[in-house]
Amino acid sequence: MAGKVYLIGAGPGDLELLTLKAVRALAQADVALVDDLVNREVLQFLSPHARVMEVGKRGGRRATSQAFIERQMVQFARHGLCVARVKGGDPFVFGRGGEEVEALRKAGIEVEVVNGITAGIGVPAALGIPLTHRAYSHGVTFITGHVKEGGEMNWEALAHSGTTLVIYMGIAHLHEITARLVTAGLPAHTPAAAIQHGTLPSQREAISALDGLPEAVRRAGLGSPAIVVIGEVVNLAALAHEAHALRRVA
Ligand code: SAH
Repeated sequence: MAGKVYLIGAGPGDLELLTLKAVRALAQADVALVDDLVNREVLQFLSPHARVMEVGKRGGRRATSQAFIERQMVQFARHGLCVARVKGGDPFVFGRGGEEVEALRKAGIEVEVVNGITAGIGVPAALGIPLTHRAYSHGVTFITGHVKEGGEMNWEALAHSGTTLVIYMGIAHLHEITARLVTAGLPAHTPAAAIQHGTLPSQREAISALDGLPEAVRRAGLGSPAIVVIGEVVNLAALAHEAHALRRVA
């Protein structure tokens, strides 16, 4: 009998943000391929016989290539195994889930996507930031800060969108990103936040006016993985002391 692949989103970190569907899919798996942003506590829901493969791309280890991961999944499924492909957040938000589904379908493998809470939604919520509070924002825009050659962002459109901006993978290029947004017309005093390890006990954040965010992040010693949120809604973050400081600056 042919196997199957569950493409599972493990959420932003907090174990309790895992869906019931994810727990059920994990329990069925014979083998799990796990990305590095995934909280290892989720592995407790695997059956005791399940094999775990770490396929993360960070932490000094050699990168597991995307092609290798896809080949492994196809092979396991062809052997009749049930595969749990476990990713951080949601598999279809900046997680290469789309590519994996394409590869599996091309190989004729059944695949089922199990949503997770994406970091761009779960992490701001951990600070009490309401992304689309109607008094301040017309919507929310999720973007990647991982600037690739050729794929230039439309900074003017972003600066004038009237939406809250949520940036994934933005810490490495934060200086460039904030400068471009200000040049494109987003007011330098727009409230902004960077949150590292959101929803986890190690969560830390920096809140500042947009043009001061890179410096605030540097002072706080924040690094990846972090979510950046830009917009008036950041003023509603449940951090009384920092919000006060921001108001004094503005
Ligand atoms: N598919 C994932 C995103 C993968 S891209 C999702 O839906 O969440 C990896 C980026 O996600 C990181 O660089 C960071 O910007 C963000 N991220 C993931 N987990 C995070 C966390 N706990 N706190 C802050 N940012 C996080």
